[in-house]
Amino acid sequence: MSTRASGSPPRIHAITLGCQMSASDGADTVASLLRRGWGRSEELEDADAILMTTCSVRRHAEQRAMSLIGRLREWKARDPNRVLVVAGCVAERLGSRLTRRFPYIDLAIGARRAESYSELIAAELEKKLPPDSMKSATAEPASTVSFLTIMRGCACACTYCVVPSVRGPELCRRPEDILSDARARIRSGARELTLLGQRVNAYSGVHEGRRIDFSDLLRLLDGLPGLRRLRFMSPHPTLCDDRFVSAVRNCNNVCPGLHLPIQSGCDRLLGLMRRGYTRADLLSTVARLRDAVSGMTLSTDIIVGFPSETEEDFMQTLSLLEELRPAAAFCFKFSAREGTPAASLPDDVSPRIKEERLARLNALVDRLTAEALQSQIGSVAEVLAETPYFGRTRAGFKVRWRTAVAPGSLITVCISAATRRTLLGDLNEPTA
Ligand code: SAH
Ligand code: SF4
Repeated sequence: MSTRASGSPPRIHAITLGCQMSASDGADTVASLLRRGWGRSEELEDADAILMTTCSVRRHAEQRAMSLIGRLREWKARDPNRVLVVAGCVAERLGSRLTRRFPYIDLAIGARRAESYSELIAAELEKKLPPDSMKSATAEPASTVSFLTIMRGCACACTYCVVPSVRGPELCRRPEDILSDARARIRSGARELTLLGQRVNAYSGVHEGRRIDFSDLLRLLDGLPGLRRLRFMSPHPTLCDDRFVSAVRNCNNVCPGLHLPIQSGCDRLLGLMRRGYTRADLLSTVARLRDAVSGMTLSTDIIVGFPSETEEDFMQTLSLLEELRPAAAFCFKFSAREGTPAASLPDDVSPRIKEERLARLNALVDRLTAEALQSQIGSVAEVLAETPYFGRTRAGFKVRWRTAVAPGSLITVCISAATRRTLLGDLNEPTA
């Protein structure tokens, strides 16, 4: 039986797995349902519907989605009116294989249809669960930090990666749509925008009859009234030309914290991965960025155990990280993905060695993170408060303090200590 009190709107529970784009697709769809009169449920048991957005970049991520869907069988069986929607990359990649395995999924909708999630999902939900009326709509204020997709799909062909085949060719949203979306988010409370795309600096669009690139888009967004910070994820190392570097330097709101996925420090493996750059290219790109933008902080992604990776190859990744000194790195064991070129190479680095290399890599990253955090102690940092006691510096360091402030305020914090991942400090007077 439904747990819903008569007269109250149906409630949606969101489960988001995977990358920031998947999370942002889920959040945008829920926000649009709330505007249609739905309620939000934090608890699974109180929910009339579940929207799960899924990831298939690594086998482990896909298995996690499958096991969660498996566990929702009972949730569904307890009330036949409940609706289960599975969206995103797993739905796209597996198609009808997913619904055959889990026949109680009401709607499986792949990542290529992400632009239409809101309408398609609302239509499915409202077949069974019409919201009571528009007057009960509860548009939640946007959070201080908002993620905005500017392009979908990918035009690269990195040999390990399933994204181009799952998410399809690279498609850029129109500048007008991005600008109006950005303005709407700022109106409802966002102060920081993070632009999302698989290689954002490949962006191309036509604005007022003129072709524009990513640097132009940054300049257009940088000037929006009310915006305090602009970030983007992820730039591709081959596309950090002088125009890009000077846009990052000259746009006041663009933050000096860059997530630049490098994957490996070994030229032979970078070639096999078809990344399109060498170790020397990476060093010179980062040097140009650091020369141009003071305090530029990096984070990155690394894959260990790519087919044929030797101890020497792996050591080159460690030494490149020592040279680039990122403040954070997300490190993954190579996962052979069906249909990708790397899946037909012998997966010859044993699970034990992959595990061991990952542990050594993570130990190095922990040390680099600790050193980066230590280097901030004694500084006075501008922080955008995301909650009363938590925010981030412009370079992207997490900060906690003890005196409540209004989310959305820009404050200055005297940094006095650091935990494993977070800076601690005391508040100065708010600067805005
Ligand atoms: N478009 C981004 C990456 C998107 S996927 C870029 O090119 O920078 C996010 C991260 O997942 C990648 O940077 C990579 O480190 C990791 N990844 C992708 N495919 C993988 C695979 N098959 N095995 C292990 N890690 C993988
Ligand atoms: Fe995958 Fe490479 Fe495209 Fe990133 S750039 S999504 S790693 S194919």
